[in-house]
Amino acid sequence: MLDSVRVRLTLWYVGVLALVLVGFSVALYALVSRSLYEDLDDNLRLSLETVAVKLVREMGEGRPERQAALDAVNELSTREAAAVFNASGDLVAEQPAQGGVHARPPAAESLQADDIHLETETRQAGGDEVDRRVASQRVQVSAQAGAYVLVVSASFEPVTDKLADVREMLYVIVPAALLLSGLGGWFLARRSLSSVVAMSERARRIGAENLEQRLPVGNPRDELGRLAATFNELLARLNESFTHQRRFMADASHELRTPLSVMRTATDVTLERDGRTEGEYRDALKIIDEQARRLSRIVEDMFTLARADVGQQGLRPCDFYLDELVMEAARAAGVLAARKGVSVTVAPAQETPFHGDEGLLRQMLLNLLDNAVKHTPGGGSVRVVLARSDEGLNITVSDTGTGIPEEAQPRIFERFYRVDKARSRAAATQAGGSGAGLGLSIARWIAEAHGGSLELRPSESAGSTFVASLPST
Ligand code: ADP
Repeated sequence: MLDSVRVRLTLWYVGVLALVLVGFSVALYALVSRSLYEDLDDNLRLSLETVAVKLVREMGEGRPERQAALDAVNELSTREAAAVFNASGDLVAEQPAQGGVHARPPAAESLQADDIHLETETRQAGGDEVDRRVASQRVQVSAQAGAYVLVVSASFEPVTDKLADVREMLYVIVPAALLLSGLGGWFLARRSLSSVVAMSERARRIGAENLEQRLPVGNPRDELGRLAATFNELLARLNESFTHQRRFMADASHELRTPLSVMRTATDVTLERDGRTEGEYRDALKIIDEQARRLSRIVEDMFTLARADVGQQGLRPCDFYLDELVMEAARAAGVLAARKGVSVTVAPAQETPFHGDEGLLRQMLLNLLDNAVKHTPGGGSVRVVLARSDEGLNITVSDTGTGIPEEAQPRIFERFYRVDKARSRAAATQAGGSGAGLGLSIARWIAEAHGGSLELRPSESAGSTFVASLPST
């Protein structure tokens, strides 16, 4: 039962409230009881004063001692027992309280001092012990009459009765308040947690196949609403990444199927008939070799991207000269370009020491250069410029080729995206690339893995310009 947040919340709530209520009740009881006991003492003091004033007045008027004392004690109500003793402690007059309770002879202290003396005495009444509060005081009546001791006592009963009432009231009010607040707390917890229950039920039903479903968001401004919204954002990201993965799988299998079916067709056609010439076998093997190379490029590229995705493709940085790497890549691309009649030129650059993954950066440059050469018809040119900028280093690869249609520009960095599939594949086969639409995504990832970026520069004129920005190291 304690595993339920609702129960724990309610128990905490009731527990804290119980502590507060008990503390409050104890304090209230102590305050009431102190004030009632003080009232009792004050009343006794007042009664003593009343008796004393009457006694002094009557004696002053020359009334006989006994009569004056009797008149004085009769001033009080019978709730209190009162008595007047003479200086030697003998009873002069008394008025017993209701129930025939007589005042006791005064305490020895009262016979010696004029202060009011208060004490509590215990009496036996019908087998029970009953406490009474007794106040006594020595009063100097006059020089010739001398001193008298007045004693007034009152029962504690009214005080203890009132305190019992207070206790009874608290015994009822505290548990009733706890019960009510417990029920209220339970309903409140139930209400506020109902959205969590709804969320968990919906979450249980969400799987890879229905990731587009979302958790219910109660009040989007409260904590639970924000939690649900955060979960929904997470689900949206998961959904996007799942869709991405699925598309990647579909595109990948499609790309792998093409060279495989070309290879199978080549073998089928060749083996269909006996007695093929060596030349025919050679042609078939050439096709199979080309397709196998393409296949391994695609697999390699996919492997690079897959490892990049899980963050496994750690960089292997080393120190090298970026200007030399640019020269080397341009030279490699130049061989292929020359066959097509495309010129590749490199702008003179300063010595640029760099710290990064030389292998990956070479791949990035080759991907950009291969693309440029691929899409530039004979007679055209490709230019590479390495320059420093305020932010770092820029490598610009521009060509005078076909350019990229405006509607395709935002998508060219997507995996497996190609503007013209057939043309791209055919050109790639000649160039030794995969032509699967992975080159630019790999190049961009390499630039970003070095803390830089790769962008297509918008241009009005024909041709395209890619700028790879790298931070200077
Ligand atoms: P691929 O392996 O097919 O070249 P990329 O990711 O390298 O794939 O390029 C994606 C698409 O962008 C290509 O299919 C091509 O249409 C276009 N593209 C890339 N570079 C250029 C360029 N320099 N000139 C014209 N089109 C280009």
